[in-house]
Amino acid sequence: MNAMKESPIVNDFVECPLCGGDIFFETHALSCTACKEEYALTEEGVLVLIPEKSNVEWAKEARENAAIINAFYRGRIKEGTGWWIGHKNPYVALLQRYNLLCGRSMAVDMLGRMYSGGTIVDLGGGEGYVDKMILDRFPDKNFQVVLQDMGFVILAHGKERSFQNVQGVDFVASDSLHSGFKAGIFDCAISTECIEHIRDLDLFFAEANRILKPGGRVFLTTPNKQGIAFWLGDRGVQYAKALVAGSFKKVEKVWKSPYGFSDGEEGYEKILSSNEVVEALKKGGFIIEQVIYNQFLGEVFFTIASKARLPLVLVHGAVSSAVALERMANYFIGPVGKFIGFNQVVIARKVT
Ligand SMILES: [Zn+2]
Repeated sequence: MNAMKESPIVNDFVECPLCGGDIFFETHALSCTACKEEYALTEEGVLVLIPEKSNVEWAKEARENAAIINAFYRGRIKEGTGWWIGHKNPYVALLQRYNLLCGRSMAVDMLGRMYSGGTIVDLGGGEGYVDKMILDRFPDKNFQVVLQDMGFVILAHGKERSFQNVQGVDFVASDSLHSGFKAGIFDCAISTECIEHIRDLDLFFAEANRILKPGGRVFLTTPNKQGIAFWLGDRGVQYAKALVAGSFKKVEKVWKSPYGFSDGEEGYEKILSSNEVVEALKKGGFIIEQVIYNQFLGEVFFTIASKARLPLVLVHGAVSSAVALERMANYFIGPVGKFIGFNQVVIARKVT
């Protein structure tokens, strides 16, 4: 890996997502040697494996979706209101920190415990918080990380923000259902807070399966529709507001929106129950090794704290205490956590 720009073949882990051909770098453009499709390498060094010309249905859709998501990220970066890119509202920023320290951090810990090195792909990894966590926490394991996302804008932003002079990370913008990675090249895949945005989960897991080595693992985090904390957090506040306003239409709107606060503006979202994730993984040729539920109380507490404008210093202290308490609670709660936790971590292994 990391051979980008050094050889006529762009690097050894990608292929043309349309035909599987090799991708070469020719003067100023990248192209497939077999089908002649063109690709791009941004000035920041992000390889864009979304076909530029093809009229195949998925390629057209991928171009449209990438344009939408890139515009969204540009706006959020400019405003300082990104969900994972540092929110200017300190309460939201603390909620982000809490979320990172719960499911995502647990997934990274598990990964570090199970692997002593190897290749990792982060699917839908955005600006690469999780990859930064992996490299910082396990500097001696020499993991090779590929950060993938649909939008090159967020990858370029993350690269500049967190990975300057960091070795062992490559950046690929592609459609996660047609990722452009070669078959059987990754030891594991991590994908955090991403699958709830995927329209076809079966295709997503089939693709994850294809690019993993035999026995390779996926580490997922995603909200848990079965947990009461999911219904009491921001969504609970929206219900309460709609009820106070006496507007049945508003109540109905919150009910119908898959995720209380997004209102559809952030694109497709479908929150999954734990059973749905497990079933989709099994269908994709994985066996489930572990499911850990998390974010039992924090989601509710931080939503209230933010609405009530509790002193920041108090909320800040509460983040660390909540994370420590919940990790301990997990030990006792076990499978019952399914009905409480806002979030779930799922680890599964490729068997077929
Ligand atoms: Zn091709």
